[in-house]
Amino acid sequence: SLTNDSLMVRRRAAVAGGVGQIHPVFTERAENATVWDVEGREYIDFAGGIAVLNTGHLHPKVKAAVAEQLEKFSHTCFMVLGYESYVAVCEKLNQLVPGDFAKKSALFTSGSEAVENAIKVARAYTKRAGVIAFTSGYHGRTMAALALTGKVAPYSKGMGLMQANVFRAEFPCALHGVSEDDAMASIERIFKNDAEPSDIAAIILEPVQGEGGFYAATPGFMKRLRELCDREGIMLIADEVQTGAGRTGTFFAMEQMGVAADITTFAKSIAGGFPLSGITGRAEVMDAIGPGGLGGTYGGSPLACAAALAVIEVFEEEKLLERSNAIGQTIKSAIGELASRYPQIAEVRGLGSMIAIELMENGKPAPEYCPQVLTEARNRGLILLSCGTYGNVLRILVPITAPDEQIQRGLEIMAECFEAVLG
Ligand code: PMP
Repeated sequence: SLTNDSLMVRRRAAVAGGVGQIHPVFTERAENATVWDVEGREYIDFAGGIAVLNTGHLHPKVKAAVAEQLEKFSHTCFMVLGYESYVAVCEKLNQLVPGDFAKKSALFTSGSEAVENAIKVARAYTKRAGVIAFTSGYHGRTMAALALTGKVAPYSKGMGLMQANVFRAEFPCALHGVSEDDAMASIERIFKNDAEPSDIAAIILEPVQGEGGFYAATPGFMKRLRELCDREGIMLIADEVQTGAGRTGTFFAMEQMGVAADITTFAKSIAGGFPLSGITGRAEVMDAIGPGGLGGTYGGSPLACAAALAVIEVFEEEKLLERSNAIGQTIKSAIGELASRYPQIAEVRGLGSMIAIELMENGKPAPEYCPQVLTEARNRGLILLSCGTYGNVLRILVPITAPDEQIQRGLEIMAECFEAVLG
């Protein structure tokens, strides 16, 4: 029978080395916040497939919606023959994405693809080619998205220079000494040194940086970006691939920022474990590209659209936004108590249930602890993830539907791991 070790051996021989794997565990099945591996071991899932499972593994409603769709058809290609669910998802997103203006949407498959298409739309609408992205931002691994991703190793290491016309501003982060004034000044520096504002199509950022370390932009900073974009005719793109679908306690994080983006990307948890992404934006902006300029064979797959409509229903029925905030409070206060015991815990932060724990020593990022905590946690039956530009941040992306007992047990395991590694 299959073992994790034997599968790791086969994986190493068969799978390209560039495809990483954080935990040497192979999945047999999963349900809500529980995963069983091929050896029959059970784990609590605090990773959620990297922010994809806000409604848990195989939510019964999502599973039923996909099963029902499977009885009808799995694919036509929306660009060949339409189907209602694609239109319905766009209608829903046009309502859910913040912004008091007429909106339109387009659907794709991955987060990276959503980012690429947001840039295409911004370029077509503004007739400009420059993009400003931020230090430690993460926008994906396809070529144009990768150019926007603000971390070389491991993402673009060994691949040569990325696409030109991307300019890097500093993301504000008080903990690491970058103020909002510094961040704004870094944009002014780009305008002075590199490119006129009239050559910039878009400023793209994550309202809360995901892979970068769960650093949230403030409403004040977002307002300053909005004003700058309005003044210069630049599109503000909110990459909500990781923050979206309720993770931050509102359906989109931008709801908490007081201003709206012109274009919003979404993916991951929007379809509860099925591949769906998309962009929603001002109708006139979204219509800047003519027929045939947007799309993709699998974009807005009928199975994924059925899943997304079910996810949106589940959010309302199970009041998951409230629960996202409640879980976040529980986690923050439990870890906050531990923070007083271990000086290495420099900060416990996050919006809603997007919670991170940053580990530092002598005022500097301490990356050596994260892999140890991840291993200790896995050995105790908890799947955790790290992140951060310095690799020193633990992040929690537990399904919002996880039962209280499992969240409590996960937090107990984390406490044991901190004692083992930091104590
Ligand atoms: N943008 C953000 C903010 C993300 O977190 C991610 C994935 N971690 C992406 C884009 C890329 O999404 P995908 O991996 O589905 O291409």
